[in-house]
Amino acid sequence: MNGGRGLAVITGASSGIGAATARRLDEAGYSLLLLARRQTELDQLGLTRAMCRSVDVRDQAAVAQAIDEASKQFGEPKVLVNNAGIMPLAQIVDQTSQEWKDLFDTNCVALLQCSQIVLPGMMARGRGTVVNIGSIAGHSLYNNHTAYCGTKFAVGAISEGLRREAAAAGVRIVLVSPGLVATDLLVTTRSSEIRDSYNAYAESIGGKLDPATVASAILYALEQPPEVCIREIVLAPTRQQG
Ligand code: NDP
Repeated sequence: MNGGRGLAVITGASSGIGAATARRLDEAGYSLLLLARRQTELDQLGLTRAMCRSVDVRDQAAVAQAIDEASKQFGEPKVLVNNAGIMPLAQIVDQTSQEWKDLFDTNCVALLQCSQIVLPGMMARGRGTVVNIGSIAGHSLYNNHTAYCGTKFAVGAISEGLRREAAAAGVRIVLVSPGLVATDLLVTTRSSEIRDSYNAYAESIGGKLDPATVASAILYALEQPPEVCIREIVLAPTRQQG
């Protein structure tokens, strides 16, 4: 494929769901702007039609500059995948204000900022899709997930609000809400007991989803004709109960 599908911007593309989505969208013929803090991991994806930029997604000016640069090379963005996120799990009494700030700034504020960069252009052109990665933790509460659930419930509300704001202009907002996925997401959870019990539950139900499965769900939404908006996809391992 030759990049003829246009430019897709993916935040948090250095690992997990974002990296899998980069590979899947590359196969589908998109040109890519891949953003994350770890430049080496982005480069190691080895995608030829991709611009890789080490950017903290919370820095709106830096994200805007990268999108501007990629637009000059590949054309204005057709797709934004707001995927970057962190999940420091703990009881609220054991967390720090810095963890809450990092959580909401990364999972919510950055998603708003990135959306604000691309939406005016998409709405003026009457076409485009923003995919927000929420979570099943935006539907249910789980032990040690209180602050994280707060961010993901917010992503759900923000997605629906954005969808209503953008719908009349012909722009689609898609919420993808996965259950357990096999990624590095627990890296910011300090307690090894919490990490172990989380992974033990996943093991007991036959394992987590492959990130490529989530990438396929994202591509499914993107591949619909422009007049069809898949508003939300919730996908989880079959044996996951909550
Ligand atoms: P990973 O930890 O593998 O990926 C997270 C990505 O976000 C990394 O590429 C990381 O890159 C990036 N990121 C984090 N903070 C920043 C930042 N400040 N600036 C730029 N990039 C940042 O986990 P997942 O793939 O699982 O997570 C992706 C999304 O999926 C998250 O929003 C998560 O909440 C959601 N999700 C995951 C589930 C799961 O079970 N794994 C279930 C439901 C939802 P870098 O560190 O290089 O900056």
